[in-house]
Amino acid sequence: FSGSQLIQSEPDASSFPSGGMRSTFEARGYTAWDASSPVFIMEAPNGNTLCIPSVFISYHGHALDLKTPLLRSMEALDKSACRMIARLGRNVERVVPTLGPEQEYFLIDQAYYTLRPDLVACGRTLLGARPAKGQQLEDHYFGSIKARILAYMQECERELYKLGVPVKTRHNEVAPAQFETAPIFEEANIAADHNQIVMETLRAVARRHNLAVLLHEKPFAGVNGSGKHNNWSMSDDQGANLLDPGKTPFQNLQFLVFLLAVMKGVHRRAGLLRATIAISGNDHRLGANEAPPAILSVYLGEQLTAILNAIEKGKGVDEPSEERLLELGIANLPEVSRDYTDRNRTSPFAFTGNKFEFRAVPSSAVISWPISVLNAAVAEALDEMGAAIDKRLAKKVPLAKAVMEVVREAVVATKPIRFEGNNYDPAWVKEAAKRGLPNLRKVPEALAELDTPGAREFFVKAGVLSGDEVESRYHVNLERYIKDIQIEAGAMINLVRTMVLPAATAHQRALAESLALTRQALGEQASKAVGAPAVRGTQALQPQLDDLKGCADAIADLHARLLDVAQSLAAAEGIDSPGKQARAMADEVLPAMAALRTVADRLEERVEDALWPLPKYREMLFLV
Ligand code: ADP
Ligand code: MG
Repeated sequence: FSGSQLIQSEPDASSFPSGGMRSTFEARGYTAWDASSPVFIMEAPNGNTLCIPSVFISYHGHALDLKTPLLRSMEALDKSACRMIARLGRNVERVVPTLGPEQEYFLIDQAYYTLRPDLVACGRTLLGARPAKGQQLEDHYFGSIKARILAYMQECERELYKLGVPVKTRHNEVAPAQFETAPIFEEANIAADHNQIVMETLRAVARRHNLAVLLHEKPFAGVNGSGKHNNWSMSDDQGANLLDPGKTPFQNLQFLVFLLAVMKGVHRRAGLLRATIAISGNDHRLGANEAPPAILSVYLGEQLTAILNAIEKGKGVDEPSEERLLELGIANLPEVSRDYTDRNRTSPFAFTGNKFEFRAVPSSAVISWPISVLNAAVAEALDEMGAAIDKRLAKKVPLAKAVMEVVREAVVATKPIRFEGNNYDPAWVKEAAKRGLPNLRKVPEALAELDTPGAREFFVKAGVLSGDEVESRYHVNLERYIKDIQIEAGAMINLVRTMVLPAATAHQRALAESLALTRQALGEQASKAVGAPAVRGTQALQPQLDDLKGCADAIADLHARLLDVAQSLAAAEGIDSPGKQARAMADEVLPAMAALRTVADRLEERVEDALWPLPKYREMLFLV
């Protein structure tokens, strides 16, 4: 075939979600080679495949993929950042966002996975009683990596090196059977592609080791879920990190401008950033006291906070001489950076010395989407700050003074988003509300952020998405959420009807039969030898009778809760408006499923182990 087919080709896009942008008769889609990301060869037992990172565009030129907006956002950031640096008196050709995603995942034995229809269909367990030993000893994180897991990890790493992915970090995570891998950071576009390859490789290699990898955000209730911490910064064409405090007052000035631009962007576009991480799995994680909450705030650490507070008071702003900057402690920042220990693991967006760590990103996500919005939000903030600086320069305000004034304005404006405390504290929810920060707890309300004129204007102005494309993303994501919950509810109904109920009734029957037989035997005995032993025998049966009653009660509860799930699902499915339907899934169906789970888990704790058809948490989480 010809080389031109490599550059552009024409796959059928008819079954690709377009959010209503395209009708089936306009099914054509186009891929175009993204030359900025290296091609790679995927090996398979019977042949190898050349893979070309590509964008995917509809017949009418709309972006259907997540790579296109990412590339566009990188362009926007490049332009705005270069212009800002030029204003500060230095010329650079190119600025790129850098990205190092830490990938968390669970590993369980393949055999258990196969026996759990919920894991197969939904990626998470819909049922499962808490084991006596969970993560309370915190012995997994600091324990050694088991030989079987290490063999798996090393094979993953070897495969990834072959594919050009610079993986570096490997360790156990907090929950039992939970692990992490992280690469050395790269340009955001390449890092995003590489993260896709990482997820794919984790899956493929697991098969060879009779393991199943779970990338879902919350495969198991009661132990930690998985995220993907996105370490993010910006680098110029000399490889200099723009969020590195630097050694000279000039570098410090540049640092402050870019730091505040990030904060401004995150503050202004907090709702949209929240929308980019809104998938059904992440709702089990955000705000569950193990992961950052749904409220976006920024953690800076003590030293930077002190510096920003000083700037707010006007220090170094009037005449930002080298001396004054030193006074602020800004010149000392390089030292700060080296010793920087981020002690706040509860923050969704934390400064960690020379980069930010966006921690609320879900483990299964394509990171291009949140990073697109982050890039565009920072570009927007840089432009705003740039315009404010230019205005002052036009009035003959000296450069350093103009810059520091604008930095100060940004410090004041972004104060509400700075939070150094414990993000898990319920008091923070109240405090955040007072500060006017959005708290978008569930997917439907988070996605609604995309469905506003303000959001469309932002994406269009940044050149990241057209108005139609924004609308399509909103619909695609909403539809995905609705389908996720439909699948989960359907899988749960099936699981309870065909596995939990039969096990429970079999157990009940065994109890009843045992009781009847025992009673019969004791009765016979009583009729033979009239007297005390028989009376004692009947009394001795009372706990067993209670047990049987308890079992029957639980089965009755199970039926009732099962009906609730089926009815709430049917009601939700009958709603026409996708927005309202998604809300019903979140507010009616999921709570009904949680109630059903409680009863099923109670039964799991009383039904004879040999009768329980599903692998249990204590097996899945500990026998790897
Ligand atoms: P930790 O778990 O302590 O946060 P890790 O080593 O697991 O540390 O992950 C840190 C990630 O941050 C790595 O992927 C690393 O390459 C990345 N990183 C370091 N510097 C930058 C930077 N300037 N821009 C983006 N990512 C960075
Ligand atoms: Mg890590």
